[in-house]
Amino acid sequence: MCLALGASAAIGPGQKCWPSSSEWQQLNATIDGHLYETVPIAAPCYKNSPHYDEVACQAVENYYGDSIPRGTHYGQTYWLNWETCGDAGCALLETDPSELLYGTCTLGRLSSYYVDVGDASHISAALKFAHAHNIRISIKNTGHDFFGRSSVPNTLAIWTHNLDSIAFSSNFTAHNCPLANSQNVGELGAGVIATDAYHFFNSEGMDITGGYEESVGLAGGFAQGGGVGSFTTTHGLMADNAIEFEVVTADGEVHTINQCNEPELFWAMRGGGGGTFAVLTKYRVQVYPSLPIHTYTFTANFTGDTSDATQNVALREILTAHAENQVDWSAQLVTGQIEYFPERIAISLVLPYGDNGSKLRAASAAFAEFLNNRTDLSVSANNYTSYSDYASYLTVTSANAKVTEPSGIFSILASRLIPRTVFEAPETIDELVEGVVQGIATTRSHLNLTGTQIVSETPVSNLDKNQMSSAHPAWRNTLWHVIHVGEWVEPLEAEDQANVAEAFLQILEPLKKLSPGGGAYFNEAHYLEPDWEQTYFGSNYPRLLEAKNKYDPTHMFDCWKCVGWRGEHE
Ligand SMILES: Cc1cc2nc3c(=O)[nH]c(=O)nc-3n(C[C@H](O)[C@H](O)[C@H](O)COP(=O)(O)OP(=O)(O)OC[C@H]3O[C@@H](n4cnc5c(N)ncnc54)[C@H](O)[C@@H]3O)c2cc1C
Repeated sequence: MCLALGASAAIGPGQKCWPSSSEWQQLNATIDGHLYETVPIAAPCYKNSPHYDEVACQAVENYYGDSIPRGTHYGQTYWLNWETCGDAGCALLETDPSELLYGTCTLGRLSSYYVDVGDASHISAALKFAHAHNIRISIKNTGHDFFGRSSVPNTLAIWTHNLDSIAFSSNFTAHNCPLANSQNVGELGAGVIATDAYHFFNSEGMDITGGYEESVGLAGGFAQGGGVGSFTTTHGLMADNAIEFEVVTADGEVHTINQCNEPELFWAMRGGGGGTFAVLTKYRVQVYPSLPIHTYTFTANFTGDTSDATQNVALREILTAHAENQVDWSAQLVTGQIEYFPERIAISLVLPYGDNGSKLRAASAAFAEFLNNRTDLSVSANNYTSYSDYASYLTVTSANAKVTEPSGIFSILASRLIPRTVFEAPETIDELVEGVVQGIATTRSHLNLTGTQIVSETPVSNLDKNQMSSAHPAWRNTLWHVIHVGEWVEPLEAEDQANVAEAFLQILEPLKKLSPGGGAYFNEAHYLEPDWEQTYFGSNYPRLLEAKNKYDPTHMFDCWKCVGWRGEHE
């Protein structure tokens, strides 16, 4: 007899209780034929795969590292770490897609079956089926997750990527909740990708609080985990701007949730993480009259010896000047990202503001002069540019992202939120700079492709005093989100990968010392953080766990270091 024991005792293919093919067919019939067996994206290129197909392979090779067409396949993740598993996988070499990375094509960490969701009833049916057969569920949108939380082997996957409806209401009436009625509300199906949202809302004269890269799914893990981008400094996190969600809970019921209806679930899904509390189908969010985007771009190579980042005076002095300016920039809502590498810098200051760019010029004038006076830089770009709207600016950021973070490779992150107090004294600024420089040097000693992003897109104008959002409270006094990034294109030996992971964890120690009781943005963090409840969720964890236990008591949804995670060996 197969008992529905909950996800902790779930079973996998080949086991006695795994559903028979006729049971899968019955599920398929109840969901209008939306059930599929998973086929890895590169299967057509593997001669020993039943899906080998030269023409289809050619198409996949052409867009292997291009995240938007890549994301139209269920059988992939953005980062190969999570699509593959040890020496099992079915991937191509991103830098030369005619080369296979594995001997045979296997599912790796991809689920066995997936439901390509067309409407909420498909999700309800999938959840009921999984419950009845005691199999695990996973939820996926784009597969961008840095912890691989959207791709779990031996699961029935719910794929929300094709829920791509999008709408705008200038006068929105919330469901049974007059206090949530609002002007200018956007509605995103769970699968809408960033570029479509920016273009749609800009065509309505509006901005949405999205991110930096065009293929992230805004309503999935991004906004349920916080959601950070160029508008965060001005309008808050995307989760801060949530108005109402449509969701399917673990029991298969469909709900419209907001501040009045199931408020604890609504709060938990405003920053407490995707894949944890319920399956979201629609995200309704405050949008704002569109602003021009003003930027200051400065890119340069260091001309001196760059073999040891810790000895690079220019790197250290620019980082220090950056930190010294931060309090003032954040006060003026100047935002952006500055990337530091052992051999170069790429500065991008951004201000969404309704002027001709003069506010950004004034705010950055002293820093620009400091950069221009340096004799140890070989400058390749140094300009102020204004864009009429965010969609125009996106062409620049997405081209940049394609170079710095292409899909179809392996990656690791290590990050920390740095509080305002650190920027208020020269001594702590020095410690911060030292910690970041040491990280830049250490990461490069382990991998050839590394860089450190300092993101100042923090919600300084939304302190969330009433705790409407469940994003880590540390966000509210954060000025820098420091992210050390490492990438590689071919699988590493297990031991090498473990060494890289450990080194990336260790470089956070000086930053942790500067931010006791603080945290990291779990959508862009190190996946092995030991004290993960505090680091990813802070003081919100107990309340989030209560919501988890109330809405998902049998842990239908369980993901890596998500609220209520049952552990590595479950
Ligand atoms: C290239 C790149 C650029 C990025 N840029 C930014 C940025 O500018 N700002 C920022 O804040 N973050 C950024 N991120 C991080 C991003 O927020 C996370 O990767 C996020 O998890 C992506 O969400 P997704 O739904 O697209 O991905 P997925 O991997 O599909 O899902 C992520 C998580 O959400 C869950 N989930 C997905 N859909 C649903 C649903 N419908 N209901 C319930 N749970 C769901 C999954 O189970 C998983 O746990 C970036 C990531 C990448 C790879």
